[in-house]
Amino acid sequence: DLGSSLRGTLDKLRGKSRISEEDIEEIVKEIQRSLLSADVDVSLVMELSDNIKERALEEEPPAGTPARDFVLRIVYEELVDLIGDSTELPLEEQTILLAGLQGSGKTTSAAKMAWWFSTKGLRPAVIQTDTFRPGAYEQAKEMTQRAEVDFYGNPDNDDPVEIARKGLEETSEADVHIVDTAGRHALEDELIDEIEEIEDVADPDTSLLVLDAAIGQGAKDQAQQFDESIGIDGVVITKIDGTAKGGGALTAVDQTDSSIAFLGTGEEVQDIERFEPDGFISRLLGMGDLGQLAERVERAMEQTEMEEDDWDPEDMLQGSFTLHDMQKQMEAMNNMGPLDQVMDMIPGFGGGIKDQLPDDAMDVTQDRMRTFSVIMDSMTEAEKEYPKAIGASQIERIARGSGTSEEEVRELLQQYKMMEKTIKQFQGMGSEQEMQRMMK
Ligand code: GDP
Ligand code: MG
Repeated sequence: DLGSSLRGTLDKLRGKSRISEEDIEEIVKEIQRSLLSADVDVSLVMELSDNIKERALEEEPPAGTPARDFVLRIVYEELVDLIGDSTELPLEEQTILLAGLQGSGKTTSAAKMAWWFSTKGLRPAVIQTDTFRPGAYEQAKEMTQRAEVDFYGNPDNDDPVEIARKGLEETSEADVHIVDTAGRHALEDELIDEIEEIEDVADPDTSLLVLDAAIGQGAKDQAQQFDESIGIDGVVITKIDGTAKGGGALTAVDQTDSSIAFLGTGEEVQDIERFEPDGFISRLLGMGDLGQLAERVERAMEQTEMEEDDWDPEDMLQGSFTLHDMQKQMEAMNNMGPLDQVMDMIPGFGGGIKDQLPDDAMDVTQDRMRTFSVIMDSMTEAEKEYPKAIGASQIERIARGSGTSEEEVRELLQQYKMMEKTIKQFQGMGSEQEMQRMMK
């Protein structure tokens, strides 16, 4: 089971708050394996994994978010980006045209969709224009009866275009018209010509391509041909109740720049689901609850942002400057930009004043900030409030606890002292009148 090997890889990240490049490589490889075995197109998989890799390496996980959750969120977001939301289908009067090869599930989906619209309080009608397949009329009639929706077809007429025209007239009391069409075993000019003519007559608001979940690489050609002839607005993936995961349909979605409208989940008229990305993505990857997890990480990120927003740069100028302040300030830098820009936000400290600061007071690189942040996580609250009480034995303990060196801890304390001195200097200058004067 591929899902479980991906889970296994991800579980190795449990408890880690930092991920190495090798970790990411391994995860991306597992994701590639899952997606390829779900029939997702190779070039799509490559594009997706490049994006995931890039983001996982560049972006900072929000404070307190496990690395595993953070990576999964990126995976989820990139897949949502690719797959998109469900095709928009307003609950109002409209005409929908179904296209696809024979056996893809058009007739079944027509009846299912009609049933679905009827549960939304609309009055749907199915118009069966398939004069090609023997028994098509009976099949559609029987299914629409089970769905308890209006139906039009004519087994004695062999002109599908004529049937479409007549059908729309005859079912004028219905508000949603679903036009079912004939398929062929393969893409043929005859099929394309016929559906183009039907499209002319029906003038659909939405044209949907119906694809069997088991479709593999063939999806691309089909999608391209149908899109060129009638314009595809969305995809219906049928037989998702089988073993196939429907990844091939993503090629069609990508090719037609459209989205997924419905999933067929069985042979009964009620076996239809409006597409919803969470479940589909979890299924593609063979993992549950990905959407929920993404939401949780999102909340954590909002939380971090809120906490950071609570911190006011002006607080630095009130009372004593502690390691707490430094930590907050470093966190805030991720949001607000480098310290010298943060300084600009403080009334009275913009422009020339800032230039009087020693250069290296501002010069905390991203890398060092990361190390500092890890170090501070291993300090006690008291140590952060009274950094002066941190002696050699504490330095040794903090270095051990944070997996850094004593030298790095000393560097942090040095940086702190430099910042404290700078801030004090400003506090000295920053009397009420002084500020007023400088602002003028
Ligand atoms: P069409 O030729 O495109 O109109 O395809 P049909 O609607 O006749 O469907 C072809 C076969 O697939 C039929 O036997 C259907 O019962 C079956 N089928 C269609 N949709 C689904 C589905 O979502 N799940 C399952 N299990 N079978 C389906
Ligand atoms: Mg059919």
